[in-house]
Amino acid sequence: MKPYFTLDDLHHWEPLDPPAKLAVFGDPVEHSRSPQLHNPALKACGIDAQYIRLHIRPDELKPGLEKVRDLGFLGVNCTIPHKFAALEAVDVVDDLARRLGAVNTIVFEDGKMLGFNSDGPGFLRALREEFSIDAHDLRILVLGAGGGAGRAVATQCAIEHCERLVLVNRSHEKSLLLAHQLAPYFADDRLAGAVERLQAVPWEEKALAEQLENTDLIINATSLGMKRVDPDLLPSHLLQPHHLVYDMVYSPPKTRLLAEAAANGARTANGLSMLLYQGAISFEHWFNRDAPVEAMRKGLLASL
Ligand code: NAP
Repeated sequence: MKPYFTLDDLHHWEPLDPPAKLAVFGDPVEHSRSPQLHNPALKACGIDAQYIRLHIRPDELKPGLEKVRDLGFLGVNCTIPHKFAALEAVDVVDDLARRLGAVNTIVFEDGKMLGFNSDGPGFLRALREEFSIDAHDLRILVLGAGGGAGRAVATQCAIEHCERLVLVNRSHEKSLLLAHQLAPYFADDRLAGAVERLQAVPWEEKALAEQLENTDLIINATSLGMKRVDPDLLPSHLLQPHHLVYDMVYSPPKTRLLAEAAANGARTANGLSMLLYQGAISFEHWFNRDAPVEAMRKGLLASL
């Protein structure tokens, strides 16, 4: 079978066996592991359907969605670069997806397109599995808070009323803007501590050193860490035993950030668990039933 299909293929669609009923839209899309996550799940549940990759360019999003809807698909996932545009392309946006500012899961129901976001809640489930803790209890620092994933995770943590949230981004103005947007979540009557509960700080060693003294969980939501040549995210001496470090990158499984954090005594986890649980939550939206998480985990691990 082809590793991915295009909008043109959809216009001359040859039914597959099992029938294609779900897909990920992306550009590029060939790297997506979503089929390895969802096809074992469909099999485990005895559902006669398969999940495919669709290479859909930015200007093809709306026609692509209409085409798969008309072909009888149940829903789709959206990945880079479609998560923001999908917010506008669907008929109804779920409240959480609107607050997170992105749609990554679409359900076709009675001819309508319903948009959801499973990245934020998927991250919360991952946090529980990896560290047995909830965001509510944590002082959190997000590296890459201006990107799509960083923004979604930071906003989800704000919605959970985390103890503290520090936003860091290469383009500082994006983290300042996000801090401004998230301020209402921190305007409650909790007693102010020695440090501010919500801050955007520049990506500079002195500022980071100060913040990391008052941080429990460090999240890497930048795209750095996948390549050996990528620069260090943080000077390693700033990583301490009291830190939990979650790297949203999962390939390689032990990024330099995670290796250095573990060497300094911190607890670490990579982004595989978030990938797994965002997929599980998408599955729940499509089928209105629990996802077979262990079958999905097995499929994902086999694909690595
Ligand atoms: P994105 O929207 O393109 O954002 C990229 C982020 O990385 C931005 O904050 C960007 O900063 C920052 N960045 C890029 N190059 C940098 C550099 N040289 N130095 C410092 N910062 C740099 O991408 P995304 O969708 O948010 O994805 C970000 C990462 O999360 C990717 O590695 C992706 O694979 C991963 N992810 C994982 C999961 C999962 O389930 N585990 C889910 C979603 C995403 P600027 O704003 O300054 O450009």
